[in-house]
Amino acid sequence: MTIDLALVNCRAVMPTGAILNADIWTTAGRISGIVAPGTRTMARERYDVHGAVVLPGIIDTHFHVGFHAGVADFETETRSAAVGGVTTTCVFVRGLDDYGELIPAHIGAGEDRAYVDFAVHLGVLTEAQLSAVGDWAQRYGIRSFKMYTCYRSAEGEQLRIRGQDDGFLLEGLTRIASIPGAVALVHCENQEIVERAITQTRALAGVQLTDLELWDRSRPVVAEVEAIRRVCYLAGRAGAELLIPHVSSADALAAIEEARGRGQAVHAETCPHYLALDSADAIGVLGKINPPIRGQGHAAALWAGIRTGSIEVVGTDHGAVLRARKAGQSVWDASPGFPGVATLLPVLMTEGVAEGRLPLGTVARLQANAARILGLERKGQIAVGFDADLIVVDPGHRQAVSAERLQSAADFSVFEGRSLVGFPQMTILRGRVVARDGEVVGCPGAGSYIARTGSGHPQP
Ligand SMILES: [Zn+2]
Repeated sequence: MTIDLALVNCRAVMPTGAILNADIWTTAGRISGIVAPGTRTMARERYDVHGAVVLPGIIDTHFHVGFHAGVADFETETRSAAVGGVTTTCVFVRGLDDYGELIPAHIGAGEDRAYVDFAVHLGVLTEAQLSAVGDWAQRYGIRSFKMYTCYRSAEGEQLRIRGQDDGFLLEGLTRIASIPGAVALVHCENQEIVERAITQTRALAGVQLTDLELWDRSRPVVAEVEAIRRVCYLAGRAGAELLIPHVSSADALAAIEEARGRGQAVHAETCPHYLALDSADAIGVLGKINPPIRGQGHAAALWAGIRTGSIEVVGTDHGAVLRARKAGQSVWDASPGFPGVATLLPVLMTEGVAEGRLPLGTVARLQANAARILGLERKGQIAVGFDADLIVVDPGHRQAVSAERLQSAADFSVFEGRSLVGFPQMTILRGRVVARDGEVVGCPGAGSYIARTGSGHPQP
């Protein structure tokens, strides 16, 4: 067996959470050996990491391209992913145009430009898309689909997406349920509650609230919870497996746990900004996002949810939004969204592991969960036969966050100025080093599209 790369003296974080002193070998892009430290081998490339932590490459389950420069975002935003140790991005492909062109255009652009691997979450927004969802799944190996309970008015038009009514949702969930291994993602905020709350909040006079407190009040927790309960019920009737994305509140997580208590397959994703920011934070309008960043107390419940396994995945909702589309504008006019892919791991390592909220093993477990739920068969684990997506982290090394360092097209970070541990020393994609000490050494197009079959993990 030829060893292409040997990573020597690792503290490897296994999917069980166990930490193993080992050398890791790769062959033809896969992990080919996890052996005792110092085992002799002839490897073409050899790195002694001197006892640094080695984790599976991070999977960002919630990643947008097209917020800045169309499909050219694949290049800049996956470059930022590589810097942050993210080796797989799950990219939303959605729009009101014909998917016969849109899907291959995105996959082709990603194959040409991406620094890391990517899978596609497909938006199901129109009647034409709804009736063809099985065809797209089959033709392109897509196993995750997104629909929206809100964005059925002017707001959706501004974002160039369109929300779905309950009849559409039920039919969508039924169609998704018939695709082997498929999971439905539904953006859960009750349209009518949000519309009324926005009107009422805008009319408030003389209140001392921050921009993010206003935004939270205009898209209240009750809207999130109601939509989650309804969507869980519809998914149960349809027999669909659900992944509730961007869970922002303690109450939303409780609603998901209730559905599980009735025996339903409902997974939960949260995002770093719900874990490490709150609505009193000085970040202000830059932190506008849907659902909103909540008030104090919610983050503690979300951390606890990750610790217990109730929240199974963490994604970023990354989008390359420029400061100019936010700063200086009212919270009502500013664009929602912000970048986050490169700070996903550092937030988990700093606010989670270093602060004692999570054991290190949980960071690895999140990746295995993401791969299992989303059908990324060769991703998410340090195990022989899996893709050699590996990151090397020195947990003692702190770095201040700056937009420049993150290498996204976006020119700010909501974590700007924070001193974080967990920026990887090395990001390895299928056995090749793509970033080292914050410098990108891979090339655009090295990333591949991941077609999924829905058949689960292979036996190595
Ligand atoms: Zn969403």
